[in-house]
Amino acid sequence: MAKCAKCSGDDLRTKRENGGVYGMNKLPLGKGKKGTVAMDSTVCISCGNVEFTISSDDALRRIADTWERP
Ligand SMILES: [Zn+2]
Repeated sequence: MAKCAKCSGDDLRTKRENGGVYGMNKLPLGKGKKGTVAMDSTVCISCGNVEFTISSDDALRRIADTWERP
């Protein structure tokens, strides 16, 4: 079972691709039609921590190709 990275609570809720008009769940990747990727957001009910996860392999490949390592 998934646990919160912050408080180790296990009461997590997730919502996939709830971007829509709420642009916060979209990560900009570049120009064009596929310029953004929707992120799954997971919220910890215990402490309110929010995590974003990308579940699109295509988008992850694009990021690996075009983004720099920190
Ligand atoms: Zn938590």
